[in-house]
Amino acid sequence: MTTKHTKGETHGCIVCGKPYQLYVVCDVQGKFIDAKLMSAGGKLVPNPTRPLVACENHADEQVEIAVAKVYGPHINGDNEE
Ligand SMILES: [Zn+2]
Repeated sequence: MTTKHTKGETHGCIVCGKPYQLYVVCDVQGKFIDAKLMSAGGKLVPNPTRPLVACENHADEQVEIAVAKVYGPHINGDNEE
């Protein structure tokens, strides 16, 4: 089965918590595949395991630091599957 589920979710900016509306794509097991940002003023933070969003006006470095604080420093290379 290659069926995907798409659902609307609200996620807070990883840096400041401002809410953004996302479409999150998951497979049938609920595993995160992709996300699409529906709100203006934000950007998706690339991540293999979960949808992350940040405001466009945060520097990439700020975003990386915030992600490391919340999820740990090795998030991009740390696949728990
Ligand atoms: Zn923000």
